Amino acid sequence: MPSIFSKIIAGEIPSKKVYSDDLVTAFWDINPQRAVHILIVPNKEIRTVSEVTAEDELMLGRMFTAARRIAEDLGIAQSGYRLIVNCGEHGGQEVPHVHMHLLGGESVGPMLKRKSAE
Ligand code: AMP
Repeated sequence: MPSIFSKIIAGEIPSKKVYSDDLVTAFWDINPQRAVHILIVPNKEIRTVSEVTAEDELMLGRMFTAARRIAEDLGIAQSGYRLIVNCGEHGGQEVPHVHMHLLGGESVGPMLKRKSAE
């Protein structure tokens, strides 16, 4: 059963794509958490970072160069942004297809809420 992101990459589910190449596809998050919230997703379906291998290194590097390019295209390269990759249950991963969040366009805030503040 293909992941929801595989269906987006295949064009079977609508999305607002901002970038795609032979290795990765990027599109707007459906529930943006900041003014800019893009997901950068490998075209190859890999469930979590726990399952990546050395063969995936080119694709994993492409996720970063795509992030740099998208940030430039969206005009947030100078103001800055945050890249987040959640992995597994404790990492808060909801969609089982590796993806990088690119967040910016406004301050993203402290990296993590301190446990004592919860
Ligand atoms: P994560 O918690 O790291 O697995 O993040 C999954 C992200 O996918 C969330 O930010 C969701 O809002 C986003 N998402 C889920 N379904 C879609 C969709 N159909 N199109 C765009 N983003 C989606």
